Amino acid sequence: MSQPNQADQFLIQQIRDGNEDGWRQVVDRYQGRLWAFARRQLHDDQAAEDIVQETFVGLLKGLDRLELWTSLETCLFTILRRRLVDSFRRSGRAQQLRMCAPRSAGQLDDGDSLGDADQWIDRRNVSASKYAEQSEQRTIQERALWRALSNSIEHLRQETKLRELRVFEMVFYAQMRNKEIAELVGMEQQQIGLLKHRFVRRLAEDIQSGTGSGDVVVDDSVLSRLWEEHRPSCPKRSTLGKMILGLLSPVWCEYIDFHIETLGCHACQANLQDLRIDSSQSSAKSVSDRILQSSIGFFRK
Ligand SMILES: [Zn+2]
Repeated sequence: MSQPNQADQFLIQQIRDGNEDGWRQVVDRYQGRLWAFARRQLHDDQAAEDIVQETFVGLLKGLDRLELWTSLETCLFTILRRRLVDSFRRSGRAQQLRMCAPRSAGQLDDGDSLGDADQWIDRRNVSASKYAEQSEQRTIQERALWRALSNSIEHLRQETKLRELRVFEMVFYAQMRNKEIAELVGMEQQQIGLLKHRFVRRLAEDIQSGTGSGDVVVDDSVLSRLWEEHRPSCPKRSTLGKMILGLLSPVWCEYIDFHIETLGCHACQANLQDLRIDSSQSSAKSVSDRILQSSIGFFRK
């Protein structure tokens, strides 16, 4: 999960080389899940299509600066999320869009979860010059944290430590309170606090040993932001596909059900919804064609 996959890197290279078939593949591959995500937020098919189209154009416009940390999918979801927040702001709605809406937190399901302003909105309040000065250093630190985080999650998956993984998802991804988490997993609040403390300490140690830095402090809010932006714990789309086909073991099905239903991960809900729609259906095909037509002008520039 920590490295972008080869297929994505190949597609990016094709687009950079001006290959239209490569662009068609990107649109065909990703438009369905982005559209499903946008529709859940906007409750309007046409508005959703427009914003997905803007998202693809946004990818093309930012291609020179594009640095793929994880996957093309997470990158497109990040652009889409920012576009949605901009559109919420224009229409006077709340200004933030969390990537998940945990049921137990008393939040509304189906994309209406709107919490406090998060870090990437806060950044706008920092003066431009100060931000530029700090930005390079911050990127290096965040990359180191991201590596430590994705390694740690991979380790939990391999060891099938799914209870811990659920706890950390609830703490950092869903930003739920220890009390709610304790109730959901049947543990004491103190235990949740201890697990969280150990997890953060391990990340700091991992960064220290990897970078040779002396004193590393892992900021919870940065950890949550990286988790939301790069979604290291989300099941792969192929895993969701296996679940639909009944090919996944019960323990993993149960975990994914938690991730999608209890945690309320919007991106995975969108992926699942998209997988259940046959991509050859004429409506999906025509959306794909329209997006392709309207973005191709930016592609050829
Ligand atoms: Zn997810």
